[in-house]
Amino acid sequence: MKIDITSDLNIFYKKIRLLKFISHFKRNFIIKYKSKEYKDSFKRHPDKIDEILKILDILNTKKRKERYNIIYDYACDYLDNEFINNNWCNFKNNMCISNRNKPKKYQVGSCCTRNYTKMDCEYFDNTIKRCSIKCISCKLFVCNYLSKKGIKYRVNSVIYLKYFLSLRQKLIASVSFFKPKDVIINKWLKFYKLSIK
Ligand code: SF4
Ligand code: SF4
Repeated sequence: MKIDITSDLNIFYKKIRLLKFISHFKRNFIIKYKSKEYKDSFKRHPDKIDEILKILDILNTKKRKERYNIIYDYACDYLDNEFINNNWCNFKNNMCISNRNKPKKYQVGSCCTRNYTKMDCEYFDNTIKRCSIKCISCKLFVCNYLSKKGIKYRVNSVIYLKYFLSLRQKLIASVSFFKPKDVIINKWLKFYKLSIK
C-alpha cells in the first residue's frame, strides 16, 4: 500500500492510528515523497523521512515479538542520540555534570552509582563505564539537576513509544528501572491486547 506524503509530512502522523489498524491485515506500506518511493530505513535518508521509515518498519513487521523488539530498539536509539548529541550529562573524567556540582563527599560517576553507599548498579560495567543492559526506563530517567534545567523525557516524547504502546505498556516502560530489554518486552507482550485501539 502506497502512502503519498509529498504535500505534507504531517499527514503521515495524522494517519498512524489508521495505518496501525490496517497493518493487522498483513498489508505492507511504501512511502512516496517528492516523486521517490521509500520502503525501508536501512539506508541513510533525510532526518524526518528517516523517522517515518522507522515507523514503516514497525508497521511492516507483523510478528508481535519482533515488532516490540524494533519499537524498543528505535526508542533506545532515539534516547541515546538525544543524550549524546545534546551532551546533557556532560561527562568529564568519568563524572557527569550533576555529580561535579555536588559536595565532594557525595560525588560518584553518574546515576548508575549510589551517592551514599558508592555501590554501582549490578548492571554497570566498570571497565567500559557503561550500562551492560538496555533498560528503556533508565534511558528515560533524568536527574533533578537536569530536570531543573528543563530537560525531561516522557514516554510520549518518544514517537515510537507514543504511537505503539498502550497506556499499561507505557507505564511499564516508565517504571521498569534496572530491568533488561527481554524482561520489559515480555511484560509488554503480556498486555498486548490492551494496545489495540
Ligand atoms: S542523568 Fe543526571 S545524574 Fe544521571 S548521568 Fe546524567 S547528569 Fe548524571
Ligand atoms: S540498569 Fe540503569 S542504573 Fe543500572 S547500570 Fe543500567 S542504566 Fe545504570
